[in-house]
Amino acid sequence: MTAPGAPNPAPGTLYVVATPIGNLDDISARALKVLRDVALIAAEDTRHSARLMQHFGIGTPLAACHEHNERDEGGRFLARLLAGEDVALISDAGTPLISDPGYHLVRQARAAGIAVVPVPGACALIAALSAAGLPSDRFIFEGFLPAKAVARRARLEQVKEEPRTLIFYEAPHRILECLEDMRAVFGGERQALLARELSKTFETLKGLPLAELSAWVAADANQQRGECVVLVAGWQAPEGDAVVSAEALRVLDLLLAEMPLKRAAALAAEITGVRKNLLYQLALARQKDA
Ligand code: SAM
Repeated sequence: MTAPGAPNPAPGTLYVVATPIGNLDDISARALKVLRDVALIAAEDTRHSARLMQHFGIGTPLAACHEHNERDEGGRFLARLLAGEDVALISDAGTPLISDPGYHLVRQARAAGIAVVPVPGACALIAALSAAGLPSDRFIFEGFLPAKAVARRARLEQVKEEPRTLIFYEAPHRILECLEDMRAVFGGERQALLARELSKTFETLKGLPLAELSAWVAADANQQRGECVVLVAGWQAPEGDAVVSAEALRVLDLLLAEMPLKRAAALAAEITGVRKNLLYQLALARQKDA
């Protein structure tokens, strides 16, 4: 307790520490040092994390900070931080807050003027993206899709024309229906990748168009086990659209005025080199709008 008149201690720091997603060697030297040095570790599941701490010979006390108590119990951790103690926040695996608890505590700590310091490390979505061979300059992370089919499809519809690489987390018992819904909404030709059991014994990264990926998973029950990340290539405007919008559209319009739709589309395709089917679809749309 601070003596009357004595200055209050400076607040402690909240360290947000990433832990491995499988292979324990993936923990960083800095993470181990922080976990050893802090006064308290706020953990998603204390029993789960106790095994990790035991493995690394870390004796720091653990206290529960999970999605059901973090909003209400955050005050306990804040009090310790405000009293000058350092606290580390960890989840069961990977980076806290990424589809894991911690958001409320981090928010409360920042609002209270406490320094929040990330200690980076494993994160399943980043590990999967780094090896997927899909465009990685821009991507979006959608977390877990809704468990119910109708809501899941509705969410997929929302991102159907998203041009950035899409990343999803999925539970193994839903992976097949999830891939089937993706095939139905995005189309079977869209390139995708299933990253399963990353950094573990049965690590598998399989990149295929959605129709083939879904069939491959359906045919092998082993691919429906373990933890998985699904990546889907972003939407691409159909080839030739840019040309269609300028030169080819003018040709198509001229021909449409002179002859039946099918013939106009075929002739326009020959003249412009744009795919006949694409011009046919465009011609139909233009006729409807006329
Ligand atoms: N915070 C974690 C992170 O940084 O990736 C994610 C926690 S979230 C509750 C768990 C989900 O992450 C799993 O259902 C799976 O989608 C993904 N995941 C976690 N570990 C994985 C692994 N080793 N291989 C593939 N996916 C994994």
